[in-house]
Amino acid sequence: MKVLITGGSGFIGSHLADNLLALGEEVFVIDDLSTGSIKNVEKSQDNDRFHLVVDTILNEAVMNELVFKCDQIYHMAAAVGVKLIMNRPVETLETNVKGTEMILMLANRHKRKVLIASSSEVYGKIMDGENTRPLSEESDRLMGFTTKRRWAYACSKALDEFLALAYFEEKKLPVIIARLFNTVGPRQTAQYGMVIPNFVQKALIDKPITVFGDGSQSRSFTHIADVTYALIRLMGETKAVGQIFNVGNPEEVTIKDLAKLVKEMTGSASEIEYLPYEKAYGPGYEDMHRRCPDITRLKGLIGFKPRTDLKGIIRSVIDYYKS
Ligand code: UDP
Repeated sequence: MKVLITGGSGFIGSHLADNLLALGEEVFVIDDLSTGSIKNVEKSQDNDRFHLVVDTILNEAVMNELVFKCDQIYHMAAAVGVKLIMNRPVETLETNVKGTEMILMLANRHKRKVLIASSSEVYGKIMDGENTRPLSEESDRLMGFTTKRRWAYACSKALDEFLALAYFEEKKLPVIIARLFNTVGPRQTAQYGMVIPNFVQKALIDKPITVFGDGSQSRSFTHIADVTYALIRLMGETKAVGQIFNVGNPEEVTIKDLAKLVKEMTGSASEIEYLPYEKAYGPGYEDMHRRCPDITRLKGLIGFKPRTDLKGIIRSVIDYYKS
């Protein structure tokens, strides 16, 4: 099979490319190397079933040829990371909205199956049922107002979902939506704010580990290998078409405990310090107190069970940064 991965030089896209190559597929990657890196696909380039196009997904002529050539599309290209979103909102909105528009329009032109990478950000800042239940695919969403810049990313991804579902319902385009919950692993950069690579990097050089807020907020982290496994299985399932799936690991940890765990696992002498949110990201930032996936739907369809627990996830990041 010929498979197109947009954003295939990024953290998630490059792991996906590795797995698809290992399965014997021919892989085409388009990446503008904005947050992706050529280093992530260095090894793949030795494989004659791997093809890299360095260009933007907004280049219609290039994209048209790639979509036409391929049987399936994984749309992973996006502006990601809270830091990037806070600092460069125009780029975030334009890449995420116009990029997905382009992919869906061309996938529809050539009738190609497409998996859209969405995000748990779309849920916004509440847990379901007054903060008690994990988030299921149909849980309500709550965003801060448009002056709260953080939600630009969530809204752009939500619009992508609306458009993908509209193409499915109106034009019968085979689309699948995967909502990813805090994916972590080797190759993830600390540059755009993600918490685990940040904590690990600081711990390894005995510099202060900075917890934003009071650290009582919690997250559920998922290992990259569990995510790519789920994405490939979803793409292969006819019943997944036209549906949204949470892809995550429900194991939860508070950020305060995460900092302690990273410190312990690295044997670091780092101090753990606390920084108010306004100082970390400025006034347009709001955090969500808890974000945990309900993965019943994914389990039901593909028997998904995350294989790597939190300690395994942290270990893989430590090993990556040490090497
Ligand atoms: N965070 C932190 N220190 C950092 C980076 C992030 O305390 O250096 C916190 C952040 O405020 C949030 C959590 O860690 O509560 C997860 O942040 P991340 O940006 O990784 O993901 P997201 O907020 O999208 O879940």
